[in-house]
Amino acid sequence: MLKGKTAIITGSNSGIGLGVATSLARAGADVVLNSFTDREEDHAMAARIGAEHGVSARYLAADMSKGDQCRALIAAAGGCDILVNNAGIQYVAPVEDFPTEKWDQILAINLSSAFHTTAAALGAMRARGWGRVINIASAHGLTASPFKSAYIAAKHGVVGLSKTVALETAGQGITCNAICPGYVLTPLVEAQIPDQMKAHGMDRETVIREVMLLRQPSRQFATVEQIGGTVVYLCSGAADQVTGTTISIDGGWTAL
Ligand code: NAD
Repeated sequence: MLKGKTAIITGSNSGIGLGVATSLARAGADVVLNSFTDREEDHAMAARIGAEHGVSARYLAADMSKGDQCRALIAAAGGCDILVNNAGIQYVAPVEDFPTEKWDQILAINLSSAFHTTAAALGAMRARGWGRVINIASAHGLTASPFKSAYIAAKHGVVGLSKTVALETAGQGITCNAICPGYVLTPLVEAQIPDQMKAHGMDRETVIREVMLLRQPSRQFATVEQIGGTVVYLCSGAADQVTGTTISIDGGWTAL
């Protein structure tokens, strides 16, 4: 379905980004994986995806906290039909104790990177008359929780940026949307489970259901495959008129 299209997925050597890159490769897109780490295993991961799905898959290192590196990533890829802005980090502290450098870093990686990559990618999309910009926001792009001021400000910003880019590209064969996942079982979230079990004196299943997924009415994690499948849908003809919107994959969190 996506043969001949090039997809760039920021922050894709783990978790949701890796799942999205794999889904896009399975759908036939050539993929560019990214993170800032530039390890042998990052390049090997791309090679494995390419071999498994019979597509071109490359790993390009770039630090999404730096605007010039965001733009250089798009240029180095040599083409971008599908841009998935996924790189993101989290930090938790009350607003009055929130370290300024953490605030700046979260805003840079979780929000400003999407501005820079989108600005750099739109020219080629317009020239081809087709493009997809898909921003991985969060349920926290639509609602708030205490102690996550920078993350929530950034994710609300991503939703606003998505709507604006949709209006600026409407009718040009380009769409821009934000996906808003609730809790997704990624290595990052998996790593928190033992600490939560210890802190609450609960077994794995109870801590997941009663603590981690308290705000997710389905009491089930979303999966990286479900996020990947939604990205592939947004790249399909069925989604040609889906633009400027959010798609929640949150087990009912934002319906509460
Ligand atoms: P993760 O930690 O597994 O993945 C984050 C990715 O971003 C990694 O590939 C990492 O290398 C990359 N990254 C971090 N800093 C970077 C930088 N400076 N430059 C380039 N790459 C960088 O986490 P994840 O759970 O897969 O999260 C991916 C995205 O999904 C994030 O934007 C996150 O906010 C969002 N999200 C996650 C969940 C969840 O429950 N896991 C829920 C909602 C939204």
